[in-house]
Amino acid sequence: MSFGKRLARLALVCLLPVLSMAEAKEIPDWCKPLPRPEYKALLRIPVTDPWFEVYKVAPEVFAIYEPHQAEETISYLIVGTKQAILFDTGMGIGNIQKVTAQLTRHPIVVLNSHTHDDHVGGNWQFPYVYGMDTAFTKTNAKGSRADAQAEIEPGQICGELPKGFSPKTYATKPWHISLFVRDGFIINLGGGRKLQVIAVPGHTPDSIALIDQANGLLFTGDTYYPAPIWLYRPETNLDEYVVSVKRLAALAPQVKLVLGAHNIPVAEPDVLPRLVEAIQAVRTGKGDVKSAGAGKAIHTLNGFKFLLAEPAKGLD
Ligand SMILES: [Zn+2]
Repeated sequence: MSFGKRLARLALVCLLPVLSMAEAKEIPDWCKPLPRPEYKALLRIPVTDPWFEVYKVAPEVFAIYEPHQAEETISYLIVGTKQAILFDTGMGIGNIQKVTAQLTRHPIVVLNSHTHDDHVGGNWQFPYVYGMDTAFTKTNAKGSRADAQAEIEPGQICGELPKGFSPKTYATKPWHISLFVRDGFIINLGGGRKLQVIAVPGHTPDSIALIDQANGLLFTGDTYYPAPIWLYRPETNLDEYVVSVKRLAALAPQVKLVLGAHNIPVAEPDVLPRLVEAIQAVRTGKGDVKSAGAGKAIHTLNGFKFLLAEPAKGLD
């Protein structure tokens, strides 16, 4: 090694602790394990907007993932031969309409897994938005600012916000509901692909799952995803949640892939009966409980985590 190289190496060694301390300040804990290893096995589809990562998770099914915000929300574009369903529109931080236009030329109808702010942010960009006929849905469709602003508080963003994004004016924009749907409603996308709406109230009154029976796909929204499941807000009903997860678990034998709305887009169907067991056991006081502050506690059991109100609301 030359003297010059040695000097350069010495300078680098001296600088490293300074750099890593500075970086440690900027990187929130939640994004340190990213990219999650499960994504390695998935086929990534290039899109021009760096806010999103797109993965093809089944034939003509695209997971549109937002890894730069703590919710790690996943929306799904499900394409048939005539039209496509966009199951959720994400945070409304990046331009999801531009992404979907790069993935299909077919007309797109939006349908939300439920109307929490992190799933409806791009609704306003689409002419056709189907919705559940609940008071909760109609109130959320008027738009709101508080929940959206909380999503960009310090520690919530990892990396860069999109160019042109205005944190000051960030809010969930209102949208128009074109058609009300209900449990059992079927959307024919063409080419033998049909999606059936399954009402799964609990997480919110308007939560739905979608099943694509021909392809064995079950989209679960926030009723199941592989991260702490939020069940603490006033709009959550734990009794209804248990009924709904039992209903989904009963479908497990017909399903090949479970696709949730946060963190990782693919799970095995046997997760559903295990979820039923876990939430029921947690409600009888089993599992590990850790306070999460602000009136919430994380309950952990058999690999599942539930974020419940403290003292736990709805415990038997
Ligand atoms: Zn939610």
